[in-house]
Amino acid sequence: MKIQEIVSHQKTFFKTQQTKNIKFRKMYLEKLRDIIIKNENLLCEAIYRDFGKSKFDTFTTEISFVLNDINYYLKNLNALTKPKKVTTNLANQIGSSSIHPEPLGCVLVIGAWNYPYQLSLSPMIAALAAGNCCILKPSEIAENTMKIMAKLINENFPPEYLYVYEGGIDETTELLRFKFDKIFFTGSTKVGKIVYRAAAENLTPVVLELGGKSPAIVSKDADLETAAKRIVWGKFLNAGQTCVAPDYLLVDESVHEQFLEMLRKYINEFKYTPDSEQYTKIINRKNFNRLVKLINREKIYFGGNSDEENLYIEPTLLNNVNWEDDVMQEEIFGPILPVICFSHFNLVLNTLLELEKPLAAYLFTRNSEEKQAFTAKLSFGGGCINDVIMHLGNERMPFGGVGASGIGNYHGKFGFDAFSHQKSILEKANWGEPSIKYPPYSEKKLSWIRKLL
Ligand code: NAD
Repeated sequence: MKIQEIVSHQKTFFKTQQTKNIKFRKMYLEKLRDIIIKNENLLCEAIYRDFGKSKFDTFTTEISFVLNDINYYLKNLNALTKPKKVTTNLANQIGSSSIHPEPLGCVLVIGAWNYPYQLSLSPMIAALAAGNCCILKPSEIAENTMKIMAKLINENFPPEYLYVYEGGIDETTELLRFKFDKIFFTGSTKVGKIVYRAAAENLTPVVLELGGKSPAIVSKDADLETAAKRIVWGKFLNAGQTCVAPDYLLVDESVHEQFLEMLRKYINEFKYTPDSEQYTKIINRKNFNRLVKLINREKIYFGGNSDEENLYIEPTLLNNVNWEDDVMQEEIFGPILPVICFSHFNLVLNTLLELEKPLAAYLFTRNSEEKQAFTAKLSFGGGCINDVIMHLGNERMPFGGVGASGIGNYHGKFGFDAFSHQKSILEKANWGEPSIKYPPYSEKKLSWIRKLL
């Protein structure tokens, strides 16, 4: 079947109202959960072939994430879909007011390659939970994971409800010509702009989950040992190919030397060697070459070795970095961690205020004034105090960017809302209406209206 036929069938199917049925939604969410559980090994093998990601990382950062999403919606769907009564204001008496979440229709989800299951399936699950039909276009860069998702979903779901369309730039360009009811895109800022432009043609609302340079600040009041351990874990997870990984470090100069030593200690302890289970490969040669060029050999504090054949780049710490260095001009998206020193906490916040709003920001400190200033002054998608990345794991909080790092958010209730329209209904009684609302108008009516409104 051609893709235009699938889009057209989804639009027709949506109008049958079947996807609005809660039992229907739950049945397919349960089916998806069963497929994922049954095929966990196949899913792990595919991602391992794409970029050598370990079974442990695939389970913790992909499979369990997606299963938790499904379980969240299965548990909360009745409450999420229930119309919410709100107070009716005086001008609308006698009446009752309520908000009815409704699905948008046929939506498009475009995924990125770095967490190929989570970033494709998680928004797709939210779209289905909210009662939409969905076309998923995973990233072609992680080819094996794209293929296994297409196989498992297209063999088990009716295409008029859910369909995985395989392909790259040409296929995405083709999809973007159709009029969807929402486009959910995860990827680079550059492609995000292409998607936004195409969506504007059809007045299609978007969620854009983009990237950017996410800073981590290490204050002199930090618990340095804990900070080093958590930063090393978060930076080198997935070999730094994580949208919310700390992109660079801002470290108070008084603890800088000591902190670098601690970072080195944990990199060694975590054993990110070329043959190790816990260290992922760089996704492809293009990114490998881009990353190797960012390693200024004169600034290497630790690491810097690479192996093109195996697409391995050693965890690398760059010291004495300044804002003009190449590594500070673009999102790194790899295992290179530049370290910049600062002398005053407030000055560093002022510097960050001049930059694009990042997807994440992190602060390590025990000082409550610093915590307060970080939270109140800086704008960023989301972040942590005394940790990195883990804010994503709480589905009670929205995940998304702000400014250049994105538009909109998802996870848990926020994912459901991203794919829903909140329809307001005022139901009026056929009696008890004040006649002052209707013409002919008079000064006396106006004075009553003034009092009432
Ligand atoms: P990308 O923008 O290259 O690709 C994303 C998707 O867009 C893919 O499905 C791809 O097929 C499609 N695409 C690529 N070029 C296109 C074009 N010219 N026209 C139409 N479609 C096109 O991004 P990527 O390399 O897959 O991911 C890396 C980027 O994504 C990083 O910037 C990272 O920070 C960001 N990211 C953000 C999040 C988030 O949740 N905010 C998560 C992961 C990655």
